[in-house]
Amino acid sequence: MNRRKSAAAHKKAMQKQKTGVDARIAQATEERGVAILLSGDGKGKTSAAFGMVMRTLGYGHKIGIVQFIKGARDSGEALYLAANCPQVELYRMGTGFTWDTQDRDKDVAAAEQAWAVAARMLADDDCRLVVLDELTYMLSYAYLDEGMILAALAKRPHDQSVVVTGRGGGTALREFVDTVSEVKNIKHAFKAGIKACEGVDF
Ligand code: ATP
Ligand code: MG
Repeated sequence: MNRRKSAAAHKKAMQKQKTGVDARIAQATEERGVAILLSGDGKGKTSAAFGMVMRTLGYGHKIGIVQFIKGARDSGEALYLAANCPQVELYRMGTGFTWDTQDRDKDVAAAEQAWAVAARMLADDDCRLVVLDELTYMLSYAYLDEGMILAALAKRPHDQSVVVTGRGGGTALREFVDTVSEVKNIKHAFKAGIKACEGVDF
């Protein structure tokens, strides 16, 4: 194909693509916050959620984050937000959660305490983004009631977006949210014996 012809073909293809994109943009008329589920067994769910935290920070909005994780190990994002971003409230379930001892009552109490913080954030009109990191495990272990969670998500303020991360999550949550992405594991450095890397994995 000569260069001229390929440039003309390219222009035509681009115009066609632009027409399609413009039509889809014109169709999206509803303005509201969205609910997003980031699931799957690959690396990138929590880091993608914090990417949205950064985007929201760019517009100066208030943000709430609850991490439904064990342990109190710091992560780079938590250190940075605590030191630099007073408009972000970050709560970690952390201590009190006892995978090791497998004391179910203690786990449930810690999960409920963390959920109380999440519920407050989900009811806060000023809070533009709420991240519920690793919440899906609270559902798979039945530490928290699915109906209660879905009701709070549904009642949240009109302009508030919410991001839930974690593997699984169940059908009801998948159906409720507006966007679902699954991060697929192809391979991970850890499997090759490489230690978790500061600034990349935590
Ligand atoms: P990240 O926090 O890096 O975005 P994630 O939220 O998708 O990861 P989690 O299941 O929450 O994944 O696990 C967090 C930690 O486990 C991170 O240190 C991450 O690098 C590591 N990890 C994630 N997926 C895998 C995997 N498939 N194999 C081994 N380690 C993993
Ligand atoms: Mg994660």
